[in-house]
Amino acid sequence: MPEPPVADGPLLVETLAIGICGTDLEIAAGDYGEAPPGEDHLVIGHESLGRVAEAPADSGFAAGDLVVGIVRRPDPVPCANCAVGEWDMCRNGRYTERGIKGLHGYASERYRISPDFAVALDPALSQVGVLLEPTTVVAKAWDHIERIGHRVHWEPRTVAVTGAGPIGLLAALLGVQRGLEVHVLDVVEHGVKPELTRALGAEYHTQPIGEIGLAPDVIVECSGVPSVVMDVLYQSGHDGVVCLTGVSPRGRNVTVDAGALGREIVLENDAIFGSVNANRAHYEQAAQALADADTGWLERLITRRVPLDGYADALQRHAEDVKVVLEMQA
Ligand code: BGC
Repeated sequence: MPEPPVADGPLLVETLAIGICGTDLEIAAGDYGEAPPGEDHLVIGHESLGRVAEAPADSGFAAGDLVVGIVRRPDPVPCANCAVGEWDMCRNGRYTERGIKGLHGYASERYRISPDFAVALDPALSQVGVLLEPTTVVAKAWDHIERIGHRVHWEPRTVAVTGAGPIGLLAALLGVQRGLEVHVLDVVEHGVKPELTRALGAEYHTQPIGEIGLAPDVIVECSGVPSVVMDVLYQSGHDGVVCLTGVSPRGRNVTVDAGALGREIVLENDAIFGSVNANRAHYEQAAQALADADTGWLERLITRRVPLDGYADALQRHAEDVKVVLEMQA
């Protein structure tokens, strides 16, 4: 890529690492995402970790700082939520996202950014700071779960997380940090997923959620698998809060008894909601969650590190993958 244009912002950042997630695979397959207006390509990379190379004196950043770029930018109108920095709740859909929607991402050796959209990280997180962005997604989910839970007197005890990918495992980490009894469900029987779950002190299950004998106070759905999405709607306890975070594929039909489902949701006062993206407050909450976590555990979540020239392989799913990271500097 050419040197980043100064118009992108006064901070010049050397990219250290880029995390690859399901969204990147969809973009690479041409199923999602949008190039900047008038361009025929999109630089991917929305999960990033970089080091500041140049920063103006009054920017709040200095050369050498570890930094993560925020993904979303407010819509140009702006809507009521973007106007107050809640771009994650944009009401008109005209927001942009670096590396995903209408703006180039961070997967170039250098990028520029405005300090308003950069987050400084503790130097202790130099090996795992690339996990910040996926952690922001679950920090927002937990923030909203708690706000919704507190609509009434609320003493949650148990949480089930469906899907033990990076989002599921990070959602489980934040559940453990809240002192909850955490259950993680996934179809994978051996390897890093059950190991990392147990290392958190959480329980791992390979049965469907209806068969684990639990009516959780909170469910965080992180698999996006349509049948699992339907299952979780039935399984929360009374006054349950169910948060959907997985972006499901379209076009897969599941038969449901809509009357029974609606009846159950009403008679149990269940709250079901979706959550995407994150605003600056969630970046700060996520940075705290990572700082409080065991760095060794976070390092094990990164199951594959691929050098930049092996990018094509980073975009292929391997059976044992949890988080794949592209190393941007030789
Ligand atoms: C990213 C979010 C983004 C969402 C939708 C996810 O992979 O982590 O930041 O808002 O995709 O584009």
